[in-house]
Amino acid sequence: MTKEPVEHRRLIIAGTGIAGLSAAIYAGRSNNDPLVLEGDEPGGQLTLTTDVANYPGFPDGIGGTELIQRMKDQATQFGATLDHGIVADVQRQDDGTIRVELSNGDVYTADAFLAASGASARLLDVPGEDELMGYGVSTCATCDGAFFRGEDMLVVGGGDAAMEEASFLTKFAETVYIAHRRENFRAEDYWVDRVQDHADNGDIEIMRNTELLEVHGSEEEGVDHVTLARNDEGYPTEKLDDPETEQFDHDVGAVFVAIGHTPNTDYLQDTGVELDEAGYIDIQGGDGGGQTKTGVEGIFAAGDVVDHHYQQAITAGGMGTKAALDIDDYLEEGPEAEATAAGTQAAEGDD
Ligand code: NAP
Repeated sequence: MTKEPVEHRRLIIAGTGIAGLSAAIYAGRSNNDPLVLEGDEPGGQLTLTTDVANYPGFPDGIGGTELIQRMKDQATQFGATLDHGIVADVQRQDDGTIRVELSNGDVYTADAFLAASGASARLLDVPGEDELMGYGVSTCATCDGAFFRGEDMLVVGGGDAAMEEASFLTKFAETVYIAHRRENFRAEDYWVDRVQDHADNGDIEIMRNTELLEVHGSEEEGVDHVTLARNDEGYPTEKLDDPETEQFDHDVGAVFVAIGHTPNTDYLQDTGVELDEAGYIDIQGGDGGGQTKTGVEGIFAAGDVVDHHYQQAITAGGMGTKAALDIDDYLEEGPEAEATAAGTQAAEGDD
């Protein structure tokens, strides 16, 4: 039996990260009555960082959680409704409305839907990682760093996130070790310089050309040590049989995995929305209007579900804003025009 919708809205936005909330602010101001659904990671990735130092307008930096809270206040002030709900399935129906089913079985309908559900931390898939997740293995230094005060800690990764996490963890750790799979960091110079300063002070030790093979420990005792592999040519796990590859154990009390993110787009698999191999959503793009349209009428996308390149708070906010403007155009012209065309065809068919 088809479940009756709980509610129909002009716009449903999946995600309360910076893209979803920027869209909600604009959509609220355009009287598009957005319902913003907050999923498993409320507030998105910004709430996992401490200070956001490069968001324009805040020369002294602003806390990620505070920035998100301010945006939520701004969105609700302009008429957005924020609610908890994990989107499980999205379908465009014959009448042009979008059916949105949540993981608890509740169904909503909307004239337009914005996928702004962000991305979640990628994992290494090594023994011990999953078993000890939450028991010494973490993907969020800001959330969990303080639990391991006084311990040696390992950060895996060579991007901005790994550098930021390692710098943050120096507040708590005896020594922070960074294991990066090759010689050069991917991170921007700003972060590499900060990490180098910490390394010069003895707070951070950089392990280049080094990868994590296994995490050892128990739920009761937490992480005890890790097994690492090193090869001066980089990517040691691809060269485990090479005599130049050294495998060794290293004592740490916590492991932070910071190797990038995977877009949260599983719920769009059967919608007809085009996803690339990694799960990022294809949008129209280009220079004119409608850039945030997906291939399915009424479904739009913005932020880390689309962007595998820039991935900055400000760019996600900008894309959310573009989406709200595209949706406003669509709601002004799209559904009505389509409904009229469908009605005309039906009337012609009746003759
Ligand atoms: P990222 O830039 O994609 O970097 C991921 C890092 O993890 C890379 O160094 C990569 O190594 C490494 N890695 C990936 N898979 C691995 C594996 N299987 N084993 C070992 N290492 C692996 O991701 P990110 O650091 O999360 O940053 C994502 C985006 O957010 C970026 O655009 C970044 O600029 C942005 N960000 C910005 C700030 C800021 O303060 N501005 C802070 C955090 C994040 P390779 O280098 O060898 O590929």
